[in-house]
Amino acid sequence: MAKVIIIGGGFAGLNCAKHMANSNHQILLIDKTNHHLFQPLLYQVATAMLSPADIAVPIRDLFRNNKNVKVIMGDVDTIDKHEKKVFLKSKKSFDFDYLIIATGAKHSYFGKNEWEPHTNGLKTIEDALNIREKILIAFEKAEREKDIEKRQRHLNFVIVGGGPTGVEMAGSIADIAYKNLIKDFRNFSSTESKIYLIEASNQILPMFSEELSNKARQYLAGFGVIVRTNERVTNINKNIVETTNDTIETDTIIWAAGNEASPLLSSLDTELDRQGRVMVNKYCAIDNNNAIFVIGDAAHFKQDEKVLPGIAPVAIQQGKYIAKLIKKNKVNSKPFFYFDKGMMATIGKSKAIAETGPIKLTGLIAWLAWSLVHLLYLVGYRTKVLVLIEWSISYIFNRNGPRLIYRNSS
Ligand SMILES: Cc1cc2nc3c(=O)[nH]c(=O)nc-3n(C[C@H](O)[C@H](O)[C@H](O)COP(=O)(O)OP(=O)(O)OC[C@H]3O[C@@H](n4cnc5c(N)ncnc54)[C@H](O)[C@@H]3O)c2cc1C
Repeated sequence: MAKVIIIGGGFAGLNCAKHMANSNHQILLIDKTNHHLFQPLLYQVATAMLSPADIAVPIRDLFRNNKNVKVIMGDVDTIDKHEKKVFLKSKKSFDFDYLIIATGAKHSYFGKNEWEPHTNGLKTIEDALNIREKILIAFEKAEREKDIEKRQRHLNFVIVGGGPTGVEMAGSIADIAYKNLIKDFRNFSSTESKIYLIEASNQILPMFSEELSNKARQYLAGFGVIVRTNERVTNINKNIVETTNDTIETDTIIWAAGNEASPLLSSLDTELDRQGRVMVNKYCAIDNNNAIFVIGDAAHFKQDEKVLPGIAPVAIQQGKYIAKLIKKNKVNSKPFFYFDKGMMATIGKSKAIAETGPIKLTGLIAWLAWSLVHLLYLVGYRTKVLVLIEWSISYIFNRNGPRLIYRNSS
């Protein structure tokens, strides 16, 4: 019976633990939060379509019937790979025979850390609630502001980064401003809102083909989003975004431009890439080690000369892969191979793009496929039912869900 520690209860860690539950190994799953979070729907919490509890489940709940899985809430601070020990910030330590590190990624500001206090990133429930309140408070301020210029600052929303998160956020804020809130205010029209999506490269959603990327841009423009490509953000200050072409005053700056891996990985004293991800071998192991594995967004894994993207299917497949090999005591025997089922991105409430091999889908059909896949992958029946109910209400009545401001006031 081996002692297996998994750090991180995200897509990678959770799937790894699930596939070793009821094995004869002793599993310890450590996460700094008490919940598994379905990050792909975080933007819907940030835009008041869903509640946090709709997309997060307590990790402990998921293993209540698996006696060999212990769950601990704790922030792992360092790893001693020689002594095979993991240390929490509280200084408590745990020994392992196998260690799986699945700590995901956090925001990166490309060295411009001074921008961080003026922006909101989207990785955690707290981030999503912060964004939700920023957006709702901006509309409240606009309602009581008579000065047109000042009001415009409240009604400008700037999203930096044209990847999936930026595109989802832009489409969703446009939905709120131009469709959902239109009847709710008396002193201004929410259609006065300007939603800017700023991307430094020449296309949004660069992981998709040019054809689909252009389609997504067309959908966004149709929703009223101002999409600017080939435009780089040069400075961010309180309520100001400066780009290579413009200066925009705004209360709401959403940062969706960069990622870096958890700082914990540096304690492994192994090779990291520029985003701080661990360079793993073809078995997801570090330094040809047969006890320590890094998976999901924290890993730099190359297949066919390309680094695998930081997306949920990669994390899920790597989690299952390593669990299977540890269960059979056959680590480092068969290389990991990522089976690419394709990609999807949603744009607003009824449009999406999807690409799988030569098949390309757009519009409502792609959006229905996107909705189905996301419902299927949500963890737990309760969350699936809740999300389905919230979506149905939102689409039928064109109303967003929890538009409450209860943590900050202004
Ligand atoms: C807003 C957003 C939208 C996305 N949309 C999509 C999408 O549509 N499709 C898609 O495929 N992918 C999407 N992704 C990416 C996808 O969510 C990630 O690729 C996936 O979550 C990676 O899984 P992971 O297990 O590696 O990391 P995560 O899911 O991030 O999990 C990491 C876990 O580690 C824990 N942790 C971190 N550090 C420590 C520590 N020191 N000690 C203890 N615990 C720790 C965290 O609390 C967390 O629970 C999106 C991501 C975001 C942020």
